[in-house]
Amino acid sequence: MPTNKPKGTEDLIGNDALTWAYMRDVAEQVFTPYGYAPIEVPMFEQADVFVHGIGTSTDVVRKEMFTVLSPDGYAKVSQGRAAELKADQRLALRPEGTAGTVRAAIEHNLVPQGAAPAKLWYAGSMFRAERPQKGRLREFHQIGVECLGASDPAADAEVIIMFMRFVEALGIDAASVRLLLNSMGDDACRPAYRDAVSAYINAHADELCEECRRRADTNPLRAFDCKNEHCHEVMEGAPKISDALCPECREHYQAVKAYLDAQGIAYIEDPRLVRGLDYYTRTVFEVQVIDGLGSQNAIGGGGRYDKLFETAGGKPTCGLGFAAGFERLVLAMQACGAPLPQAICPDVYVALADPSCASQAFALVQQLRDCGFIVEADRQGRSLKSQFKQADKFQAPVVAVIGPDELAAGGVKLRDMGTHDERVVALDQAAAELAGLLGLEESDECGCGCGHEHGHGACDCGHEHDGQPCECGCDR
Ligand code: AMP
Repeated sequence: MPTNKPKGTEDLIGNDALTWAYMRDVAEQVFTPYGYAPIEVPMFEQADVFVHGIGTSTDVVRKEMFTVLSPDGYAKVSQGRAAELKADQRLALRPEGTAGTVRAAIEHNLVPQGAAPAKLWYAGSMFRAERPQKGRLREFHQIGVECLGASDPAADAEVIIMFMRFVEALGIDAASVRLLLNSMGDDACRPAYRDAVSAYINAHADELCEECRRRADTNPLRAFDCKNEHCHEVMEGAPKISDALCPECREHYQAVKAYLDAQGIAYIEDPRLVRGLDYYTRTVFEVQVIDGLGSQNAIGGGGRYDKLFETAGGKPTCGLGFAAGFERLVLAMQACGAPLPQAICPDVYVALADPSCASQAFALVQQLRDCGFIVEADRQGRSLKSQFKQADKFQAPVVAVIGPDELAAGGVKLRDMGTHDERVVALDQAAAELAGLLGLEESDECGCGCGHEHGHGACDCGHEHDGQPCECGCDR
């Protein structure tokens, strides 16, 4: 029996794969002007990278990490000798991108003393063993940024603005999302606040679920995030972090808001926004879709993590970032009718009228592709009639028929599939004629400024442009 994909995973096929590529392109276009460069870190790390970074009391670490074992590690575990695994044998698939990026930044000293911040962006699969549902997968895709070494509140505002620009660039209109903002304080003010929330939970223990009662000791702030509606209501009455911030955190938060206000970025202050990962300090934010995504309405979020470098064994270095979920961004794009990339149709289908002309047809296909056209051709030995049917399926606007008659008449027959007009053109003119049929002449002036028109064919100016290749991409 064939095997199906694992629960909570998706195959990205056709338009879905195109959309993922499109989203990475949009991310690059938006992030590059802010000075962000791409980074790729491994899909698995030593589990400790996540355990220490994300926090032992978080759901992600406690319940959702996929363990990875090498064959010798697996042998130890299956023999009941898991305790003998060394740290570098305890591996896990990455559940998020920040901890691995910070590990890489420490390992490669990406933020040396006195240097400008390292600004990095990534796109890739993340893995969490969650209960799958719409918008919640076990392998999902995130696009994220990390700004390492910037303490200024302007950096917080800039990262948030960049996120909103990214959302906008994907065609998700500002009115369909809301930006939630909070400050979670720092080491100076959060411990006292945690204690206050813990005391509140204990005082309301009989009204809260078992998980929330347990959180009173381990991670009281997570009770704000409980999925249980009743717990949510009870936690409405808990102390607010906004009343507990120390003067430095308060000042930082005010400054972030002032920058956002000055740029006209609307936000809702949510003193109960505590994000699910332990490493956040001060600014946290989340972008939610207002309608249509049900309970999985967060398309992304992030914040500041000024202690993460030290937790991960590095020098004190502040940092902040965000991650947005591809699958939920797509749902948001669909919900507000944003354009999604469509499958690309070929410009021309080259049909072979007789096998005796296969080599000429093969050469024509390559020639047209070299000129930049998208070309399809039969590779299954179909009849001419069935090649035309296939060209129709591909929605090719032009079919180029090549056979003994066409070659005898001087070249190749171009058939406009819209008007049904046909004409035989010389093989070496096929590219220029095809460009004409596709209405591409206007845009075909040589990009190098030599003033020549050259259809989709090679630039005919014959110049080396100051020793540089011709900018039009024609290989000159
Ligand atoms: P987080 O890393 O938990 O802050 O999540 C950032 C974003 O990643 C969320 O707002 C979602 O858009 C996306 N995300 C997180 N977990 C999942 C999941 N299991 N399935 C799909 N998307 C997810």
